[in-house]
Amino acid sequence: MNPVIEQLRETIVELGATKSGALAVSDIKFDPAARKACEENYCGNYDRNWTCPPLCGDVFELIERAKGYQSAVLFQSISSLKDSYDIEGMTEAADRHNEVVRSLQRLARDRFGDAVVLGSGGCSFCSVCARVNDEPCRFPDEATTSLEAYGMYVSHIAKQAGMKYINGQNTVTYFGMVLLKEPLETA
Ligand code: SF4
Repeated sequence: MNPVIEQLRETIVELGATKSGALAVSDIKFDPAARKACEENYCGNYDRNWTCPPLCGDVFELIERAKGYQSAVLFQSISSLKDSYDIEGMTEAADRHNEVVRSLQRLARDRFGDAVVLGSGGCSFCSVCARVNDEPCRFPDEATTSLEAYGMYVSHIAKQAGMKYINGQNTVTYFGMVLLKEPLETA
C-alpha cells in the first residue's frame, strides 16, 4: 500500500478514531439512492444544513467529483453505550467523532490541499447551522458533508475496507472518509 496512505491511516487512529481502512475509489459503487436516508429526514437536517441534501449540491455532480480522486481512507469511531436508549452516550460519541473529523479536515488541508474529508451526517461545526436563519455558511473551510450526500452506502464500503458496520450490542459506530488524489498502491 502507498506509504502516504498507511501513514494517514495511523494518524487518523492517533487522532481518536478506532480503526481505518483504505480502498480504491474505482471500487466504490456509487448510488444516488444512498441519499434516500437523508430525504427521510430522521435527523431533522434535510434542507436545514448547508452540507446536507438538497443544499450540498447535485448528487451526480458530487459523485463525479468523488470519482476524480484515486483512493479513499474510511475510518470509524466505536463507542460503548450504557444501553440502547443511552442518548447522552450517543451524543458524546458523536461529538468525539466529529472532533476527529475536524482535526482531520485541518490536517488534510495542510498536508494534501485538495483532499475531501467526509463525516457522519451533516456539518456540526456551529451549534445551529446558518442555513436555519437563511444566512451563508459561516466557516466554509470547516464545513464537512456526509458519505451519503456523495451517493455512498457506508455499510457496503465498510465491508470493502475490512470494517464492521455494526459493532455489537450497546455500541454506536460513526464513520468518516478522506478522498485522496494519491493512488492506493505505489509501484
Ligand atoms: S460551518 Fe456552520 S454554517 Fe457552515 S455548514 Fe457547518 S454548521 Fe452550517
